[in-house]
Amino acid sequence: MSLDRVSLNTLTGRVIGQLALGDFQRRYLYDTSWKIGGAELLRRDNVWYLCITQSKAAPDPDEPTGYLGVDLGLVNVAADSDGEVYSGAQIQTVRERRFKHRRRLQLANTRRARWRLRRNARREHRFQKAVNHRISKALVQKAHATRKAIALEDLSRIRERVTVQREQRRVRHSWAFRQLRTFINYKARLASVYVVHIDARNTSSTCAMCGYCDKRNRPDQARFRCLQCGHTAAADTNAAVNIARVAAVNQPIVSLLSQSIERADTSPGAKALGC
Ligand SMILES: [Zn+2]
Repeated sequence: MSLDRVSLNTLTGRVIGQLALGDFQRRYLYDTSWKIGGAELLRRDNVWYLCITQSKAAPDPDEPTGYLGVDLGLVNVAADSDGEVYSGAQIQTVRERRFKHRRRLQLANTRRARWRLRRNARREHRFQKAVNHRISKALVQKAHATRKAIALEDLSRIRERVTVQREQRRVRHSWAFRQLRTFINYKARLASVYVVHIDARNTSSTCAMCGYCDKRNRPDQARFRCLQCGHTAAADTNAAVNIARVAAVNQPIVSLLSQSIERADTSPGAKALGC
């Protein structure tokens, strides 16, 4: 039987369904290195969806030669320590437009308005997911091409920091933010790239050039200007360079190679940037 058709056992006998496959789904279904696991049938607005789970064993990571620090934030979705910025500007505009539309629909509160609200939420979800896929893929490809390990902030510690601004906190606890981290982690595993999570305390207020640490080095959310040496940079990029540096100090590449990815997380006694 072709993979485009599926035979389902229902209460009223067998039903042969024709799958409407996109290029992405078809590529994975026909790729025999991806094993087919379970499947789940869902109905949404009278359309049936078959969710198929596929899995593949992750290869052993290649030996990295350094770190690519990645800062995930509000102004930009991500910035890396090479100075590349992965913009969230487009998302922000779309989000604001949809927010206004949503308010109007909520006020209307008719059956049709409620249906549109649900449809818009799903649309926004898909849009954000596509952006997260694109950014995580770009980051992982870059790390792989330059033979670097990826350094991310350890999220479990972010909640403890009282200095995180409210808006930043909202973003960091959103599903989209967590999804981007999840995507980076799993794509990295598939591409044999190591990921370490570091204590990012002070990475946004420390100068990546001279090491001077002061909250006032950040005149606003987007900019960094060192009060000591005058170094200026995009705040996210400055933070990403610091993240790469903290990772290099706490997780020297040599030590990284002697442990598994799971254990490459920050140890409780790891040293953060001193202030
Ligand atoms: Zn400085």
